[in-house]
Amino acid sequence: MAMSPDTPLLEFAGVGEQRAKKLEKLGLTCAGDLLAHYPRDYEDRRQIYTIREAPPGQRVCISAMAAEHPRRARIRKGLELVQVKVVDQTGALHLTFFNQGYVEQALRAGEEYIFFGTVEEQGRRRTMVNPIFEHLGKQSFTGRIMPIYPLTAGLSNHLMASLVRQALPCAASLPETLPQHIRQDHRLAALEFAVNHIHFPQDEQALDLARRRLTFEELFYLSVGLSFLRHRREAVCLACTIPTRPREEFLSLLPFSPTAAQLRVMDEIALDLSSGRPMNRLVQGDVGSGKTVVAAYAGWLCAKAGYQCALMAPTEVLAEQHFRSLSALLAPAGVRVGLLSGSLTPKEKKQIRAQLARGEIDFAVGTHALISQSVEFHRLALIVADEQHRFGVAQRSALAGKSETGGMPPPHVLVMSATPIPRTLALIIYGDLDISIINELPPGRTPVETYVVREDKRQRMYQFVRKQVAQGRQVYIICPAVEDGPEGESSWDGPSPAGLKAVKTYTEHLQRDVFPDLTLGLLYGKMKPKEKEAAMAAFVRGETQVLVSTTVVEVGVDVPNASLIIIENADRFGLSQLHQLRGRVGRGKHQSYCVLITATRSAEAMTRLRTLASTTDGFRISEEDLKARGPGDFFGNRQHGLPQMKLADLAGDMILLQEAQQAANQLLTQDPSLTDPDNRPVLQRVREMFADTPDIFN
Ligand code: ADP
Ligand code: MG
Repeated sequence: MAMSPDTPLLEFAGVGEQRAKKLEKLGLTCAGDLLAHYPRDYEDRRQIYTIREAPPGQRVCISAMAAEHPRRARIRKGLELVQVKVVDQTGALHLTFFNQGYVEQALRAGEEYIFFGTVEEQGRRRTMVNPIFEHLGKQSFTGRIMPIYPLTAGLSNHLMASLVRQALPCAASLPETLPQHIRQDHRLAALEFAVNHIHFPQDEQALDLARRRLTFEELFYLSVGLSFLRHRREAVCLACTIPTRPREEFLSLLPFSPTAAQLRVMDEIALDLSSGRPMNRLVQGDVGSGKTVVAAYAGWLCAKAGYQCALMAPTEVLAEQHFRSLSALLAPAGVRVGLLSGSLTPKEKKQIRAQLARGEIDFAVGTHALISQSVEFHRLALIVADEQHRFGVAQRSALAGKSETGGMPPPHVLVMSATPIPRTLALIIYGDLDISIINELPPGRTPVETYVVREDKRQRMYQFVRKQVAQGRQVYIICPAVEDGPEGESSWDGPSPAGLKAVKTYTEHLQRDVFPDLTLGLLYGKMKPKEKEAAMAAFVRGETQVLVSTTVVEVGVDVPNASLIIIENADRFGLSQLHQLRGRVGRGKHQSYCVLITATRSAEAMTRLRTLASTTDGFRISEEDLKARGPGDFFGNRQHGLPQMKLADLAGDMILLQEAQQAANQLLTQDPSLTDPDNRPVLQRVREMFADTPDIFN
């Protein structure tokens, strides 16, 4: 059979309708698909043992000769076995094959083979069940580094490897997509070599070269695609020009003077807004660095120019808090701030919508509902997404359409995030954004003291709560679950297994048995919006002394009088999330404390918690998190809307990513729309890669 990348898998030896269907589940229909189905791992089968030296209990290769003709026996219907003794100078090995009748013919007495399987010892007898075997000297699957493939039910790794083997000859006819000069400049292997050795590496060096080339390629196309996104915005779109005003006018509204970092970021934003091109900016600043005021400034500029601004918060609680503080700040300057919240009555909602459509609200605050289809704006010029570290490319693309109603140009977009995303990830999630960093905390903050404690200190911890309350302070207690597990209502963290503190029953217990004389509040995500608002408002006003809550207070909530946060089952949380939670205290002038209580027996979990206790550097913490938990936390459900990477490990391939970005920028400088015939294949690959990302190419 002449093999080409287009050869359907149905034409492969060993593939019938059934298997073809299963392969299709993995997205594999032709030879070329197989070649792009990279191994997820490798098994080193290079070491070949003698029968006596082979360690029992492990998968090993043994070189031996069949000492007899295989004996085939039918035990009962559906169970047949073939047995054969093989030997070398050191001893004998007894092989048993279940339901593999062909072995009787395949193994010939007197011929030498490599057997791959697990050696078992039964007394002095050495045995092996269902080994893979190949003629010595004609090996494909033994005596070498073997690929381990991502599989689906009913497909074995051995089958997959043998199919890839069959497809491998057509690697030579795959079109090379990376331009020659890029391959040279970055010392990248040719495609044919890379494909051959990613599947069946000759040795470690060949594997490294193959992986480097293919990973680079992925990151390169990713970078090119992101550059397209960015250039498309910059080149095609015109945005409303928001004139800059004297900054002092805004500063006079503030009860404090901004930090140098805040001022710098304000200037960057003012410059963007007045440029006539759409702003796409990410403001990153650790918890408590004062991002709200920066957003307020941007909204104020818009309002003063006669435009509207919409600020989206991830939760109702946070939206309401922003509404309160922004109204207090901006109302004196004549800016009309409005809240579109789930807690409004239908009638109130209707009224707010009408006001937005007529332009009677300048600064709208709400959750995502704010940019839903049914909300109409009069002259929307700016969208601020607060605490949206997952507000990725796709969401921002969707926004661009928002203002097209009413003949307005696309809005400026400002994304604010306290999750200090490691630089690599920022480059990827926000590769098409400009980044501003608020790298300074307002003066006079004393760092939060953090303690990791065990259950035996629980009573002392409760006494400490009393002490703080007696001094007029307030306390958060955070629980990982909503209801008692295992059948409990699912919280953010899934149904709660037994042993986790569940916020409702725990609050009852605390109120009844521990703090009967204190006023406790209760807050969790699934409460009715009105109840949430009431619970939060009571805490803000200082009426509740202890707020028992799930992680809904994680983002942004600001109660400067709170000086202690206790986190139950702390080992259940990611470090970045704990850091966010800790950021709920230490926002005022009082010395603040964070207590992480845990019953974990894992040394590793304790080490992670101690890392948190030893630093308040959000960036360092997120790097640790990334190491321990992988990028999943940052990427949640692929909400970033970017293509899936097959090989590139976004946490580990930082240097290669930078190289790939450089190469992409260089190429695009020379040939911005990739019209040069040499670069066509690149364009083609980027198109394929970004097939799911909305309108990247128009
Ligand atoms: P975050 O960056 O976490 O969103 P916020 O904007 O909520 O931080 O600000 C945290 C607290 O610090 C708020 O109470 C805010 O009023 C206050 N704040 C912000 N900037 C300053 C500053 N320059 N000086 C003093 N206090 C500030
Ligand atoms: Mg905030």
